[in-house]
Amino acid sequence: MEKIRLGISTCLLGENVRYDGGHKLDRFLTETLGQYVDYVPVCPEVECGLPVPRESMHLEGDPEAPRLVTSRTKQDMTERMLQWARKRVGELESENLMGFVFKSDSPSSGMERVRVYNEKGMAVKKGVGMFARAFMQHFPLLPVEEEGRLHDPRLRENFIERIFAFKRWRDVLSRNGDRGDLVDFHTKHKLLILSHSTKHYEAMGKRVAQTKGIPLKDLYQHYQALLLESLQLKTTPKKNANVLMHMMGYFKEQLSPDEKQEVLELIDLYRKEFLPLIVPVTLIKHFVRKYDQPYLKEQVYLNPHPMELQLRNHV
Ligand code: SF4
Repeated sequence: MEKIRLGISTCLLGENVRYDGGHKLDRFLTETLGQYVDYVPVCPEVECGLPVPRESMHLEGDPEAPRLVTSRTKQDMTERMLQWARKRVGELESENLMGFVFKSDSPSSGMERVRVYNEKGMAVKKGVGMFARAFMQHFPLLPVEEEGRLHDPRLRENFIERIFAFKRWRDVLSRNGDRGDLVDFHTKHKLLILSHSTKHYEAMGKRVAQTKGIPLKDLYQHYQALLLESLQLKTTPKKNANVLMHMMGYFKEQLSPDEKQEVLELIDLYRKEFLPLIVPVTLIKHFVRKYDQPYLKEQVYLNPHPMELQLRNHV
């Protein structure tokens, strides 16, 4: 599979670009996820012309529209950063990015909960880094995360599932797909979508079925919005257990009472969070393979991202 292109804050790759001359290497991103990803590094502070090392900066003023100010000498870097960020997000359009991993807590790169100081020097964690804000406004549909949040197994699994789904979707778009391609994509992603949102699963099914009189471009656009919106909604053990039970319905004829009982017990233990998702999924995959179940073997839900990442071993 062609590698996924992902934007990243440069210091997370181990480059010495931070204000103190150091880096914030994240080995999961570089060594593990890095096997599947081509990173496009962006360091707002260095790329807008500041040296390494440099005076540290922070946000201050209105958390919705803060100023970027150096901490000791109080130089206002806001206009410089905003001008550069506007230009840089335009350049990134040609990079075919599937998402971005930001460095947390940075006044330039932080995605959320960045400190913003008031005139008394008190901070509230309500800000967004200047470049991160410009990026998210310019690419509202792209999956974004911070390296700190990616240490949470559920957030990690969700983000990586989204970038892989987005990559498959972009592949359909790049082929100038027809209605048949859309139906095919939707069919294969049905259970994945269902694991996030029943509401979106139903709406997207209707959208794909009622194609008469709707221009293909509009159909694709509307479907894409629903797809990305649905995948943003977190899966839960309860939602996944419902999908697993739904899959069990395809084996009514084949499984012995004993086999059925075993799967039901594993699904229940997973739902109660005594077992990780990988356990019931592995058993169902075994039956899909053994009985060559045609619909289920095409379901992305069973293989949404490379097994080697072991993402379902921890959720
Ligand atoms: S947090 Fe952002 S601005 Fe700071 S060093 Fe890392 S990439 Fe550069």
